[in-house]
Amino acid sequence: HIGTQVVDKKVDSVCPFCGVGCLLTYNVKDDVIVSVEGRDGPANHNRLCVKGRFGFDYAHSPQRLTVPLIRRPGVSKDPEMLNKLNRDSSDWSEVFREATWEEALALSTGKLRGLRDTYGNKALAGFGSAKGSNEEAYLFQKLVRTGFGSNNVDHCTRLCHASSVAALLEGVGSGAVSNQVNDVEHSDLIFVIGSNPTANHPVAATWMKNASKKGAKIVLADPRITDIGKHAWRTLQFKPDTDVAMLNALIHVVIEEGLADQDFIAKRASNFEALRENVKGYSPEAMEPICGIPAQTLREVAREFAKAKGAMILWGMGVSQHVHGTDNARCLIALVTVTGQIGKPGSGLHPLRGQNNVQGASDAGLIPMMFPNYQRVTNKAAHAWFEDFWNTKLDDQPGYTVVEIMHKALADDSDPHKVRGMYIMGENPAMSDPDLNHARHALASLEHMVVQDIFMTETAWLADVVLPATAWPEKDGTVSNTDRMVQLGKKAVSPPGQAKPDLWIIQEIARGMGLNWNYAGESDGVAAVYEEMRQAMHAAISGITWERLQRESSVTYPCLTAEDPGAPTVFIEKFATDDGRVHLVPADIIPANERPDAEYPFVLITGRQLEHWHTGSMTRRATVLDAIEPMATASMCGDDMQAMSLQAGDVITIASRRGNVAIHVRRDDGTPRGAVFVPFAYYEAAANLMTNAALDPFGKIPEFKYCAVAIRRGGKP
Ligand code: SF4
Repeated sequence: HIGTQVVDKKVDSVCPFCGVGCLLTYNVKDDVIVSVEGRDGPANHNRLCVKGRFGFDYAHSPQRLTVPLIRRPGVSKDPEMLNKLNRDSSDWSEVFREATWEEALALSTGKLRGLRDTYGNKALAGFGSAKGSNEEAYLFQKLVRTGFGSNNVDHCTRLCHASSVAALLEGVGSGAVSNQVNDVEHSDLIFVIGSNPTANHPVAATWMKNASKKGAKIVLADPRITDIGKHAWRTLQFKPDTDVAMLNALIHVVIEEGLADQDFIAKRASNFEALRENVKGYSPEAMEPICGIPAQTLREVAREFAKAKGAMILWGMGVSQHVHGTDNARCLIALVTVTGQIGKPGSGLHPLRGQNNVQGASDAGLIPMMFPNYQRVTNKAAHAWFEDFWNTKLDDQPGYTVVEIMHKALADDSDPHKVRGMYIMGENPAMSDPDLNHARHALASLEHMVVQDIFMTETAWLADVVLPATAWPEKDGTVSNTDRMVQLGKKAVSPPGQAKPDLWIIQEIARGMGLNWNYAGESDGVAAVYEEMRQAMHAAISGITWERLQRESSVTYPCLTAEDPGAPTVFIEKFATDDGRVHLVPADIIPANERPDAEYPFVLITGRQLEHWHTGSMTRRATVLDAIEPMATASMCGDDMQAMSLQAGDVITIASRRGNVAIHVRRDDGTPRGAVFVPFAYYEAAANLMTNAALDPFGKIPEFKYCAVAIRRGGKP
């Protein structure tokens, strides 16, 4: 039926969900998107997964915010009510009243300005969004840095690949991928670790499956064996939390069996001796009882990895979301280095980025320790450059990260760094942060919070002012995918009611904070912001002009001139570190912050599923996707279910020391014994009520992939 509709126009854009960055076309009739087709983009070649193809009608949901809202006087912010919330039927009119744009903006900026002027520049913080465009991310971080006066700006990269980026910046000098996903067609061996690509990066997974059909060997290393395992040559179902033990064992074999690429190491790496010394104690035989993988299998995989013409590592949040996430990524860097599997086709390091623009938002400086293009705020030259470029004084201290900001919101009144006011654009920390009861209390405790979003998210329920924003198909802008491709999306439909473009709203807040910005012109000022951002990131994207993007839709960076085709593979001759060499960093085993015990004997693993995205605010309002997966379920293996006399569909209550959910159980024999997997997209059974806010010390990423829980039969979902 969809395919037979006569449409008014076809508009080229990019999928708004995952970091693969599939190019697509919106088919529009009467200002409504009626269907979506895949385009021949470099990352997807016409392919789309179920989310990209059918997850579009959230933009036309009757639940869209269409008018600014102000909290009614005397209505308290009650974090507990979020546990009773029904997104479909809860009525916010008793909590908020409608307002004009002028009134809502004046109230918010007046309060934020007052907090800044009374308590100083650390009193405010901002969360931007990996769902917004590069231009929105750039302008948002510029507002926080130049208008709020500190570097207290972050977004969900902190919850996703912050530890991978910390290790990559330290090791190879760049936080982005070395090789693009579809380069796996040149690999002999594809090492997938801590990732469920068929669910989370489905089109990327198709390139892996194609390569495997042509003879490439896939190794899946994960405590949870997922669909890609069906295509794997070897599956390494290591015990949760033992990544470093297993990876060091692989490096041990490479060195001990004389398989290391000594020439590559001598010419291109530093600190190899320390690495060699460190992995001596990690023989596969010694690690077998720790990680649960037979020593012979580890030796076999290490040999194959070292001997492959090209071996590429692709990883997800199973690697990064641990208190030892940075160490996990350091081991991956060491593995490709000792084998010389980087800087050539079909090899290298690929952290599969989660959201559609988490790469671009980080590149644009939406992180507390870096200006755009990863210029450290503590670097005197970079600091001086941006002070000159933005013509203002800037803070030279890194700001607080996502979870730290929540702690600072609950800090004692005497703390000069207490966060008292926040501006949140397109993020939903009241669902996505760890230890939600704590995070929700922190948000509720703010003296002022303004939330800009397309739906009444759980975070918006705790706001003082809610500003209705535009969905992705309602504006022009660029996003950068996991492959370092800057890609252009064009406006396809009008925003509903009084909803405004995010870039317009940021500028209005900036004006209210005393900044005199006026980005106007093509695409409602988007082109002007892009041009400024291009200058700020000249070392990466100076060759990608706005005009070029209109012609080409997608250009890979680094790209420095108009003729530069971009660099799909990097580090061919040198790394991006100061001395051009890989800096190897040995890692030792650091256990999870909270281990199972007699009271909480199971391990909770959280993550995503194919049909729903992030906190579900969009995909749960996409008719087809919600019809396929309408209900939260927890996955357990058959043995554990049998031991607890559970049938598929029964209700269980899962409880950690921090919170609990009642949820239906589904059988999944890929989930290891002693563990339970819960997706975090469902507000009715919010997985993050249970998760642990303990942080990796380098990336400051929470340990979403491991905490101790108890499971009992029954409960009320
Ligand atoms: Fe969208 Fe990712 Fe699916 Fe592509 S693979 S259609 S980018 S969700």
